Amino acid sequence: MPTYEYRCGKCGRRFEKIMTFSEHERKPRPPCPKCSSRKVEQLASAFQAVTGKKT
Ligand SMILES: [Zn+2]
Repeated sequence: MPTYEYRCGKCGRRFEKIMTFSEHERKPRPPCPKCSSRKVEQLASAFQAVTGKKT
């Protein structure tokens, strides 16, 4: 299962969420676990980086 990395735009907290692709499509931006802000940005995950380089 892919790991998605996020960073909160309000408090700067970085956190990870493990979810399926379909879950990610339905709710791509989970709230910050620290301040509950929804102003989070998604970072490129290691999972995506690895699969992107392999053929
Ligand atoms: Zn936050």
